[in-house]
Amino acid sequence: MDRTKKIIRTSVVGIIVNVVLVAFKAFVGLISGSVAVILDAVNNLSDVMSSTVTIIGTKLSAKKPDKKHPFGHGRVEYITSAIVSAIILVTGALSLKESVEKVIKPEKAEYSAISVVIIVVAILAKIAVGIYFKRTGKGLKSDALIASGTDALSDALLSGGTLVAAAVSLVWNFTIEGYIGVIISLFIIKTGIEIIKDTFDSIIGIRADRDLTENLKKKLCSYDNVLGCYDLTLHNYGPNLIIGSAHIELPDDMRAKEIHKLTRKMTVDIYNEFGIVMTIGIYASNSGEDAETIKNDLSTIVSGYKDVLQLHGFYLDEEHKSVMFDLVMDFAADSKAISAEITDKIKKKYPDYTFHVVLDSDYSD
Ligand SMILES: [Zn+2]
Repeated sequence: MDRTKKIIRTSVVGIIVNVVLVAFKAFVGLISGSVAVILDAVNNLSDVMSSTVTIIGTKLSAKKPDKKHPFGHGRVEYITSAIVSAIILVTGALSLKESVEKVIKPEKAEYSAISVVIIVVAILAKIAVGIYFKRTGKGLKSDALIASGTDALSDALLSGGTLVAAAVSLVWNFTIEGYIGVIISLFIIKTGIEIIKDTFDSIIGIRADRDLTENLKKKLCSYDNVLGCYDLTLHNYGPNLIIGSAHIELPDDMRAKEIHKLTRKMTVDIYNEFGIVMTIGIYASNSGEDAETIKNDLSTIVSGYKDVLQLHGFYLDEEHKSVMFDLVMDFAADSKAISAEITDKIKKKYPDYTFHVVLDSDYSD
């Protein structure tokens, strides 16, 4: 079964469980006159809505690429995750309003034994759904499913609060429904904010996973003649499509046909192993003594700047007495000023040469 079908199947299970829970809780809430239990039912209804949104989002994101959206529709899932978090936030705000009203004007609920049993079963069902969603969501890398799972677990806590309220009401003949409601509403709002933050981060674009970039670099550097690999950049278009680029350093006497063979093999291997569509650029490396000397001096100068994370792509053009190199700097650094200083220093040592710096961004670890 493919990812889309698994996400949809998981969501349908969630919807069915929640519809049953809404019916039972609405029944218990109405016969006992408990606002906490009725709120709990409303909250589960919001889960039914968010699961439905997840299904719609997954269906839309599985749509094949077309002329207008050549990278496919995978990012639709980030939008549906944002909608799910918005539903959580709205539910939290409404519960809070309702609960505050009950704190100000408490109403006593009458619980029967059967009501308490239904509440307990509902809590267990919610916990099961939450764990199931989170596990499946992590396996399938679906933020929307993970978000729904987190929501289900916070719901179990909310229902737990209604149980506490029922117990207090039965044992001490006193109502704390409003207070329980306030605490749990704040918890729901916090959950909503956290999920919306993660989702927005995904939409804005976050630093690629360190394990992934390290494994990719190891792979790129494992081929014969590859002296180094730099500037690894990854873009994702939803969880299933990553497009990337990197530079590899090769001896400057390699022929185009050899490079062709090498880079073709690399891109095919990387696609098969990582599922990443990779473009590979070339840096030439010279091995002459002059180049080594200048490079060592440059490395020494650069090592004095802690904001310079990497020096690479060094190449000496003997004929034109020009040197090219790339610097990767910390995003917080004043990169222009630092590169000007470094160029000045190396230029003083080698006045006959011209130096060209390319400032690369610190895109990945
Ligand atoms: Zn570079």
